[in-house]
Amino acid sequence: MKVAVIGAGIAGMACVHELERYGIESVIFEQKKQSGELFDHSAATLEMFTRPYDPLEYLMSDFNISIKPLQNLNSIIMNSPSKKETVKGNLGYLILRGQHYPSVETQLYSSIKSKVYFNTRADYSQLAREYDHVVVANGQHDITMTMGLWSTIYQTHIIGANVLGEFDVNTMIMWINTRFAKSAYAYLTPMEKNRAFLGLVVPNSTPDQAREYWKLFWEIEKHPWDIVYEAMVQHSSGSVYPHQIENILLAGTAGGFLEPFLGFGMLSSVQSGVLAGRAIATGKKYEDLLLQLKEDMKHSLVFRELLASLGNAEMDRLVAALGTPGIKQFVYNTNIDLVRITTAMVGKIRKYLHITNREG
Ligand SMILES: Cc1cc2nc3c(=O)[nH]c(=O)nc-3n(C[C@H](O)[C@H](O)[C@H](O)COP(=O)(O)OP(=O)(O)OC[C@H]3O[C@@H](n4cnc5c(N)ncnc54)[C@H](O)[C@@H]3O)c2cc1C
Repeated sequence: MKVAVIGAGIAGMACVHELERYGIESVIFEQKKQSGELFDHSAATLEMFTRPYDPLEYLMSDFNISIKPLQNLNSIIMNSPSKKETVKGNLGYLILRGQHYPSVETQLYSSIKSKVYFNTRADYSQLAREYDHVVVANGQHDITMTMGLWSTIYQTHIIGANVLGEFDVNTMIMWINTRFAKSAYAYLTPMEKNRAFLGLVVPNSTPDQAREYWKLFWEIEKHPWDIVYEAMVQHSSGSVYPHQIENILLAGTAGGFLEPFLGFGMLSSVQSGVLAGRAIATGKKYEDLLLQLKEDMKHSLVFRELLASLGNAEMDRLVAALGTPGIKQFVYNTNIDLVRITTAMVGKIRKYLHITNREG
């Protein structure tokens, strides 16, 4: 059996890792000269979304993928327009992204043996004629859309920068404020003691509007840091069905596995990539293997709709609530499956935050 994978990103390399476990020959086509974003950043993975499992232990036990984090995430400082709360605990991990070791891309690349054709832009329909299976893991929705399988849920621009300053390497900072982030958020994740990634996610905006919001973010928050590199990326969460047409399987962002709440997709890209490989190797239905992951995306959408319905007053109430002992205990110091409980309690949460009839 011959398998072609489009994209040496997270989903593509995770897929090949799984295929290799079954002894299946595969090749990857990657349009860049190396895998990984052109700019370094550190990505968060939060334990509260993978309970009752530790995110990285879960990847190892169920997906055979080992990822070494940059550092543990022990503290998150949450800022709303006029409130600030710090939550502490074993909150998850920060993981390096980009082309430099120990980025997740360099870790995955060194874990596979298959041939990667760099500087090669692949054409999925041609590959589908030449190979037994093609896995589209190109980190975008263009191919999925051409196949008529994509409908957009949520579109954002992320403006991000590498900033220099002094940082606690175990602490992430988040800001919610409709003035600069609309219904999304901004965040800072450290890479080293003196270098961090500062990102602003702006939903439903043009690139020029996103730049205006970025300026406003710096003006309002008066950040003391120096920018060394700035970049903007478009991000789309979408709903995809089915995930396989004939011999073509869709994984990672191309398969709709960028969750709409925070725009996280690292874990779900690993998972969908491995499951695509597993479906090919075992003959099981890919759509069936994806059930849990598709369920996770639905829960994330409920969180997105909740956040999109908040104004700044409610955001203040939300952040203040995070500081109360009962909620702190519930959210951060237990192993309760927060996501499922919260989605079941959305009506009560809206009432608590005094959200009336405003829609997101
Ligand atoms: C700034 C930023 C911050 C983020 N922060 C987080 C975070 O904190 N936590 C989190 O979980 N997620 C985060 N994400 C999301 C996460 O990065 C993505 O969900 C994940 O990378 C998607 O993996 P993928 O394999 O689908 O695509 P990618 O990792 O993007 O890989 C796709 C690869 O395909 C290649 N390619 C594209 N088209 C072709 C073609 N036609 N032929 C050959 N190669 C092609 C690309 O060059 C690329 O290498 C962030 C994303 C960005 C941009």
